[in-house]
Amino acid sequence: MALIVQKYGGTSVGSPERIQAVAERVKRWREQGHDLVVVVSAMSGETNRLIALARALSHDPDPRELDQMVATGEQVTIALLAIALQEAGVPARSYTGAQVAVLTDSAYGKARIEAIDDERMRADLAAGKVVVVAGFQGIDAEGNTTTLGRGGSDTTGVALAAALKADECQIYTDVDGVYTTDPRVVPQARRLQRITFEEMLEMASLGSKVLQIRSVEFAGKYNVPLRVLSSFQEGGEGTLITLDAEDSMEKPVISGIAFNRDEAKVTVRGVPDTPGIAYRILGPVGEANIEIDMIVQNVGADGLTDFTFTVNRADYRKVLTVLERIAGEIGAREVSGDDKIAKVSLVGVGMRSHAGVAAKMFETLARESINIQMISTSEIKISVVVQEKYMELAVRALHSAFDLDAAVE
Ligand code: ASP
Ligand code: MG
Repeated sequence: MALIVQKYGGTSVGSPERIQAVAERVKRWREQGHDLVVVVSAMSGETNRLIALARALSHDPDPRELDQMVATGEQVTIALLAIALQEAGVPARSYTGAQVAVLTDSAYGKARIEAIDDERMRADLAAGKVVVVAGFQGIDAEGNTTTLGRGGSDTTGVALAAALKADECQIYTDVDGVYTTDPRVVPQARRLQRITFEEMLEMASLGSKVLQIRSVEFAGKYNVPLRVLSSFQEGGEGTLITLDAEDSMEKPVISGIAFNRDEAKVTVRGVPDTPGIAYRILGPVGEANIEIDMIVQNVGADGLTDFTFTVNRADYRKVLTVLERIAGEIGAREVSGDDKIAKVSLVGVGMRSHAGVAAKMFETLARESINIQMISTSEIKISVVVQEKYMELAVRALHSAFDLDAAVE
């Protein structure tokens, strides 16, 4: 018998029929003798609908009122699920974040969880009830409703699992696990049985949108075993995310390939090669709230150097404007850019103990005549920037070169 926290996302509770299916699933787990805490999101589309209502009244709605309103989406689904469970003969009680209580700071729209009171949940579990909790929301020290940021119900699930020291946190979603890469790009992509928190964080921050990034950070920090499962199919194993993926003898060198098309690169050429120059370029970019990803500075020659970095494609125009202004101030020769690029990354903890991963990656891309524009590496990741139109080709070639393709049966 185990204590399990299950989280169901918006599509899994998108209609009364879907909610009933969730109740049936919860019932089956309970009949196996497990204790269950169930976290739910708002019905699919509901959070967006609510935000649109506020935006119809104001271009810049007050964040406190926005949270007050948007938290109602989850309040509807917890009650509906509790009703469905009771109808199925399962004793259940629902709680809002405030009722639990999930205590957060006061950063509306992106609040962080500070503490969770597990008393009510424990009492209900001891009395044989299933506990249903609203995801995405909490309460601050002054009693204001807060929300955790889009996709925040994942984080609620993980945080409750950590607070209750649950045996597993199961995230039910519309895919049946984490894949080696996006199956829409590589049909041979395989579901991973296991992946580490570290790898999952890289995959998530590189654009694989299965889980909210913060929930993975949280799970890693508190060592909460996290399992991604399909809510549309019964009996699958999904993907288990843990501290250590080492379960098989032959651990793969690469676990997955992530890619991101939302990138643009900019270059400042002919910059005086003097102390403080990186700061004078990147300082104003940061002040303009533009996030920087990869950065490359060339070796200087004749007292001048070049500086290239990537930003989110949505910030491309904005960053060019900032750089053109700075270029004049620091006496740079020219500013140029390209917003038709993409980033492709190999991710795997196995890289640590294997030399030659980068060489094999570059060889594979060379064989396909794909030019590499930028390279960056970390302990468990190698990223390259290529022309956007070659991105899918690059991902497919690498997927097969690193033996990630599913075995043909
Ligand atoms: N309902 C919230 C959202 O749409 C939270 C969640 O689904 O996790 O972002
Ligand atoms: Mg979600």
